[in-house]
Amino acid sequence: MGKVAINLVTGSIQQEEIIVGIDLGTTNSLIAIVRGDSHEPIALKDIDGLALVPSIVHFDEYGNTTVGNPAKELLVAQPERTIYSVKRLMGKSYRDVSKDAGFFAYHIIDDNTDALVKIQVGDKFYSPIELSSYILKELKKRAEHILKVSITKAVITVPAYFNDAQRQATRDAGRLAGLDVLRIINEPTAASLAYGLGTKHADERTIAVYDLGGGTFDISILTINNGIFEVLSTNGDTYLGGDDMDNTIVKYWQEQTGITDNELHNFKSLAQQFRVKAEQAKVHLTTNEVYQGTIDDTPVSLTKEQFNKLIQPLIDRTITACQNSLRDAGLKAEQIDAVVMVGGSTRVPLVKESVRQFFGKEVFDSMNPDEVVALGAAVQADILAGNNTEMLLLDVTPLSLGIETMGGLMDVLIPRNSKIPNKAGRQYTTQKDGQSGMRISVFQGERDLVQDNRKLAEFNLTGIPGMPAGLPNVEVTFLIDADGILKVSATELRSGVAQSIDVKPQYGLTDEEVEKMLLDSLTHAKDDIKVRALVEATTEAQQMLDTTEKFLVKHKEFLTAEEVATTNEHMQQLRDAIAAKDKDLVHKATETLNEVSRPYAERVMDSALKDAMRGKKVI
Ligand code: ADP
Ligand code: MG
Repeated sequence: MGKVAINLVTGSIQQEEIIVGIDLGTTNSLIAIVRGDSHEPIALKDIDGLALVPSIVHFDEYGNTTVGNPAKELLVAQPERTIYSVKRLMGKSYRDVSKDAGFFAYHIIDDNTDALVKIQVGDKFYSPIELSSYILKELKKRAEHILKVSITKAVITVPAYFNDAQRQATRDAGRLAGLDVLRIINEPTAASLAYGLGTKHADERTIAVYDLGGGTFDISILTINNGIFEVLSTNGDTYLGGDDMDNTIVKYWQEQTGITDNELHNFKSLAQQFRVKAEQAKVHLTTNEVYQGTIDDTPVSLTKEQFNKLIQPLIDRTITACQNSLRDAGLKAEQIDAVVMVGGSTRVPLVKESVRQFFGKEVFDSMNPDEVVALGAAVQADILAGNNTEMLLLDVTPLSLGIETMGGLMDVLIPRNSKIPNKAGRQYTTQKDGQSGMRISVFQGERDLVQDNRKLAEFNLTGIPGMPAGLPNVEVTFLIDADGILKVSATELRSGVAQSIDVKPQYGLTDEEVEKMLLDSLTHAKDDIKVRALVEATTEAQQMLDTTEKFLVKHKEFLTAEEVATTNEHMQQLRDAIAAKDKDLVHKATETLNEVSRPYAERVMDSALKDAMRGKKVI
């Protein structure tokens, strides 16, 4: 980018605004741009030539912040003031993260279980959004320093499994850092873009993106068709990455040196040295056969062969996840056209080799695996700036979205795995005469009853003018924008009364939860069908009862006392059937009541017709 524009009125030269691409990572973050001259994406580096900014924020006692490498150095000395892995907390409530609380050395506040988490540092409280904004500000500052222009627009990447809440939180963090976030895109999509996959119109490919970072592992299967990306499946492990490799080395050296867990626990600086040296050894063994070093004058060593043995179980776990994601996508390994390697840990030769073997083909690894996501975000930014060929990015919804209808049933408007952006609408009506309001409850999930799904939002459509039941026409529309954020609106079409809501759920779902919800829907499918049948029968029966009751009040004069008694009897039988929750019985009793009452209705209609004919000339 970086086109030059001349203002014809003032004659001044204006630098067209640059849109940056940002990889806001769990371990490392970085910022990239596409250069106008070469059209190649590049990562922006500091004076030491480092592109990666560790995603770590340190607070001193006055609340001043440092971000990146200087903060990383304080990780051990001041654990409660040095915040890492904040990405794990984005869009999460305390309840969401409580089982992982042991992972964090800093203080996560547990005030209200459904509220978003806060982190306490000293006597101040910070949200994950604020903490992420410090990292984004640092990246923005770096870009402004290097490019000498102000940066206000960005594309930020998130994992493919991030839900609405997590995407919204990321967007908010951008805004807080003074960035207009033009697009949130999926990390695997960005990585594919960086390699130019899908940038040509005719490209039709299936891509596997294998992303092994510092603390997380993600495998995503995507297809690209006419420049449109679709995520077919995602899988992975939110606690598996390079840190685990480091830990196995530490364990191995503990045996070598006889240093106990207790000693490491009590001497934090010794533990830190073990960890730093272990990471160094790992990186060294990427290109060498043997590592030799010292910790506190004690020699430690590691051969590549031994290292490979140590990490084999970790790699095996990633391969199992690959198998699962292929299965979910309904594909075989040989149907994958390209395998893209992402994340610093994919530099480990055994990782590459294992992935190559599993998919049975060469992998894309020519770019820096820890930069490739940011580079792809920059490519996307370039597309948005209009500097690139027409391209569309498409993702899919991980779970179905719908609203609650009669009897607590889930009525799906946008099924799971639908492409986004997406729009869907359906018309509903009232159940009671003169009903002036309608509650719209939005749910996410695969089960037939809303109580088994997750509520995202709720609002009331009020001010519907008085009409008989069934007459109002309430159109409910779901709109998911390109960032995967849902907007729900309801309009009563006869009166034009309308109401809408942006869904920013209170807390997010982890990918395990999404998986669990999908699994639940499979295991409960049979029960759900039964329940749905009963609910539908009951709803119909209830309507039948309501109509009959109304009829009895309004048109008693058409019925004999005996008829009223029989009708009441049948109504009671139907109520009993409903209470017994027996679907077949409910159906039968509804039918009987219908049989019994139909002649009365005919009588009324006949009479009305006679009245009408009396008043009018019939031709
Ligand atoms: P994230 O996506 O989680 O922010 P990165 O993609 O930046 O993380 O990966 C960070 C991890 O990559 C760290 O565990 C780091 O030790 C590891 N790493 C970086 N370079 C190498 C290398 N040459 N060999 C092995 N691991 C490496
Ligand atoms: Mg990453």
